[in-house]
Amino acid sequence: MQFLKNLNINETNAGTSTGTNWISTNNHLDSFSPVDGKKIATVQITDEEAYKNVLQKAEDAFKVWRLLPAPKRGEIVRQMGEEFRRHKDDLGRLVSWEMGKSLQEGLGEVQEIIDICDFAVGLSRQLYGLTMHSERPNHRMYEQYHPIGIVGIITAFNFPAAVWGWNAMLAWVCGDVCVWKPSEKTPLTAVACQKIVEKVIKANNLPEGLSCLINGDRNVGEWMAADERIPLISATGSTRMGKEVGKVVAARLGRSLLELGGNNAIIITPNADLKLAIVGSVFGATGTTGQRCTTTRRLIIHSSVYEQFKEQLVSAFNQLKIGNPLEDGIHVGPLIDTHAVQLYSKAIEECKVQGGRFVVEGEVLSGSSYTSGCYVKPCIAEVDSQLPIVKTETFAPILYLMKYDHLEDAIALQNEVPQGLSSSIITTNMREMEAFLSAAGSDCGIANVNMGTSGAEIGGAFGGEKETGGGRESGSDAWKAYMRRQTSSINYGKDLPLAQGIKFDL
Ligand code: NAD
Repeated sequence: MQFLKNLNINETNAGTSTGTNWISTNNHLDSFSPVDGKKIATVQITDEEAYKNVLQKAEDAFKVWRLLPAPKRGEIVRQMGEEFRRHKDDLGRLVSWEMGKSLQEGLGEVQEIIDICDFAVGLSRQLYGLTMHSERPNHRMYEQYHPIGIVGIITAFNFPAAVWGWNAMLAWVCGDVCVWKPSEKTPLTAVACQKIVEKVIKANNLPEGLSCLINGDRNVGEWMAADERIPLISATGSTRMGKEVGKVVAARLGRSLLELGGNNAIIITPNADLKLAIVGSVFGATGTTGQRCTTTRRLIIHSSVYEQFKEQLVSAFNQLKIGNPLEDGIHVGPLIDTHAVQLYSKAIEECKVQGGRFVVEGEVLSGSSYTSGCYVKPCIAEVDSQLPIVKTETFAPILYLMKYDHLEDAIALQNEVPQGLSSSIITTNMREMEAFLSAAGSDCGIANVNMGTSGAEIGGAFGGEKETGGGRESGSDAWKAYMRRQTSSINYGKDLPLAQGIKFDL
C-alpha cells in the first residue's frame, strides 16, 4: 500500500528507537488490520537489553534538553507539527487501516497532533509561575516550573497517535524527554510517528534519547511503571490497567497521570432540541464503533419525550452503514479484533439475562464485506439503571436507554456509575443547564451542553474523575503535570528575619 511506503513502514520493523537509532531485537508482534483481518506488517518487541539502552539514552538526553530555552524547544515542536502536516494523509490512512476507525477520524487524529503542536509552541513562551508578596521585609518570593525528567507514555489502541501527541508535545516544551510504549494492537502507527519526529531530531542535531519508542505488551509497560528513573508515567487505557500502574508507581512515590475508562451519559430533557439530541447521541454511541473513552453509553431521557425520541433513534440506527471505514459513506467500521467482538456478544447476553430489552438487536456480521470477523451492528437496549452491566464499560457500540421524571433523578443516574469521564445535557432551558453544571450537577471531568459526550478539543484540559483516574492532559494548564514546581524566597536585605515572627538571637 502506498501510504505504508510513504511512511517508510516495511514488512518487518524494528520496534525500539532512541530517536536517532533503531535497535533490532529477536521477537516480534504482528499487526493485523481489523478492516480485512490480514496482517499488515510486524514490529520487533523491545527486550530487557534494548530497554536498558533506551533508558540510558533518555537520561543522557534530558541533561542536555532541559537546558535549551523553552521557546527554542517550542521551535523544535513547531517543526514536528510541520512534518505531521506533510504526512497527515498517509498517517491518517494508517491509523484507519490499523485501528479500524473511519478515514475522517483517522485524519482527525493526526490533526489533533498538529493542533497540540501549535498549542505547545505558544505554551513554550508561557510556562508561567507566580510571584508572591513576602511577609518579611526586603524579601521576594516566587515559584517557577522546571522540567521533571523522563516521561513514560503508555497508550491505548483506540487513539494510537493523538494521545501520544498530547503528552509528548507538552512534555517536550516543558523540557522533558519521552519514552513511549504504544498498544500492542497498533504498533505500526507508533513506528510511523517515531519516523516522522526522527527527521526533525536528526535535522536539528538534537540529543539521542529525546524521543524514544519501545514496543511490546503489558510486560514492557510494567517495566516502565516500576522504573524509578521515570518520575512521571502517563498511562491511558482501561481502569484495570490504571489500577495496576497507579499502585506500582505510587509504591515508589512516582507521579502518575491516569486517563482510564468512561461510562458516559447524555440527559435529554423535555426542553431538548431533539434534532441536536439525535445527532449527538448517534455519533456519540457509534463513532469509532463505540471505542472512544468518551463514547455515549447511556441515554437518560425524560418520560414526556421518551417514546418519540426512541422511535427516531431506532430509525437512525437502522440506517447506519457498516463496512470498510476507508470507503465514503460508511458510518461504522470494525471493532479492533475478534476478542472485542466476543466482549460485545457477552455484554449483550448478560444484558438480556439481567432484564434488558433490545429495541435494536445486536449482531456479529458475516459475509464478503465482513471477512475479518470484527464487524458488529450497533444496538440499543432499554434497561433499568441498576443493572450491573450498565455500570461497566463495554468497549463496543451498545447503547442503554433509561427514563426519568425529575432532573435531580437524571443527574443522580448520570453520576451513579464508577467512572467519571464525560457527560452531556441537551436542553434549551437555562435552569436545567445550570443545575447540570453546578456543584450538585455532573461529577465528570467533562460536562457538555447541547452536544454529545465525545469529540473534545485540545484547548481544554482532558480527563475524568473517579475510576477514570483523575488525570488531565492536553490544553489549559495540564502542562503543570509535566514539570516540578519550585518555590524560591530571596532575601536582599542585611538582616535575617524569620517567618511567623520567630526570634532566634545569637
Ligand atoms: P488496555 O488497558 O488493555 O491497554 C492500554 C495500554 O496499557 C497498552 O499499551 C497495554 O499494553 C498497557 N498495559 C496493560 N496492562 C498494563 C500493566 N499492568 N502495566 C503497564 N502497562 C499495561 O486498554 P485498551 O484496550 O488498549 O484501550 C481501551 C481502554 O482505554 C478503554 O477502557 C478506554 O476507555 C480507555 N481509554 C481512555 C482514554 C482517556 O483519555 N480516559 C483514552 C483512550 C482510551
